[in-house]
Amino acid sequence: MIRNRNIKVVATLGPASSSYETIRALKTEGADVFRLNMSHGRHDDIARLHATIRKVEADMNAPICILADLQGPKLRCGLFEGGGALLVDGQSFRFDLEGTAGNQNRVQLPHPEIFRALTPGATLLVNDGLIRMSVIDCSDQHAECRVMVGGRISDRKGVNVPDVVLPLAALSDKDRADLEFVCELGVEWLALSFVQRPEDIEDARKLAKGRARILSKIEKPAAVNCFPAILDASDAIMVARGDLGVELPIQKVPAIQKQLVRGCRAAGKPVIVATQMLESMTGSPVPTRAEVSDVASAIYDGADAVMLSAESAAGQFPVDAVQMMNAIAEETEQDPGYLEAIEAARTPCKSTVSEAITSAAREIAETTALKTICCYTMSGSTATLAARERPRVPILALTPDPSVARRLGLVWGLSCAPVDPAIRFKGAVKAAVCAARDMGLAGQDDRIAVTAGIPFNTAGTTNILRVVSMSESLDAQSEAAF
Ligand code: PGA
Ligand code: MN
Repeated sequence: MIRNRNIKVVATLGPASSSYETIRALKTEGADVFRLNMSHGRHDDIARLHATIRKVEADMNAPICILADLQGPKLRCGLFEGGGALLVDGQSFRFDLEGTAGNQNRVQLPHPEIFRALTPGATLLVNDGLIRMSVIDCSDQHAECRVMVGGRISDRKGVNVPDVVLPLAALSDKDRADLEFVCELGVEWLALSFVQRPEDIEDARKLAKGRARILSKIEKPAAVNCFPAILDASDAIMVARGDLGVELPIQKVPAIQKQLVRGCRAAGKPVIVATQMLESMTGSPVPTRAEVSDVASAIYDGADAVMLSAESAAGQFPVDAVQMMNAIAEETEQDPGYLEAIEAARTPCKSTVSEAITSAAREIAETTALKTICCYTMSGSTATLAARERPRVPILALTPDPSVARRLGLVWGLSCAPVDPAIRFKGAVKAAVCAARDMGLAGQDDRIAVTAGIPFNTAGTTNILRVVSMSESLDAQSEAAF
């Protein structure tokens, strides 16, 4: 399946998008990656969604990438008498450990370690930052707060503590159980929420045991502050603007978004821009102009993917939201200014042979009008390096490993074709030529670039770049030429 765009679309699944028909329509209309949100849905719901995605994948004969998003140490308050309470500016409000239902004066916050980390003057934010409180007095059992900005607090609302590096492991017991569950189902990416330090990623990597790659969600000030180390430890990044905009002054988010996208592009690691991209489409068939412009901005910056959250998971127009993302991407990428923006932000590659070869492949493809760059890739790393170059011509990743083909669904510009394991370079070239022809990327009179690594069964050894003429290589007479 070839898309008419480079940026990928991630669609979160939920109650609005759990049927076979809807998931198939989302894929057909442009979703490349499906996100399973582990904060919602029981294990049997998640297993059902997973099985449905894999059935769509088999029926459409096109790899689908799955990202399982672990909840992480998200703090939530307890329950209220009558479901909630209205807090007014200036009143006091208490968080404590008591299990009884809350009211206008107090509620449970079942996280003793938080009370130990709080100090007077710290800010507590409730319900996506709508309610703002300041800690007046605290012990290891409670926090007495002054309500600075009031509003309605209700059952199990999220609580953010932006000023404090929380003494919490990145993975709760629930996360560990969820991680094992989804790794056994088979997912390509694990997203870690509220990552605070690079060690958080190592814990998840150990538990994943190679079954999935690790994506860090940047949504805490602490993570922004040590971003280079987190990027180094991660396989991919999400700019999680929802919680980021709660934990930091919201006006800081755009600059951080651009800084993170630049860092990921330089490192050659996929980056997703997420949250509220087409938020108004949860209830309207058309987005706001500002939302369209926001999606386009991520496209001009060269992000790997844009994400839909509630729009596709719980909104009234999940398929329309994917169609809209697709339409914005197709249109924006036609703009000559798009190429200029993408190319102006390209950074020189590091001095490895693989990077030099993928960089040369782009250069040759662009200067000699090759139709496509075909990367024979075992682990997916060569294809990801080719994408790092953000070439003008399409990139086709050829891999014998179905899980690699799925995983690459998140990466900018990559289309994948399954191939038989190659034993000799000649086989890889043949596979590239056939795939480029079958997928309509190159015709009889065209030429393509093929990269591969010899020996074939070792990852990360790209050492061959060959320019191939389609007609010559399909001609049995020229077998000897390889
Ligand atoms: P969430 O993460 O949707 O899981 O909260 C994304 C964000 O915070 O932006
Ligand atoms: Mn979040």
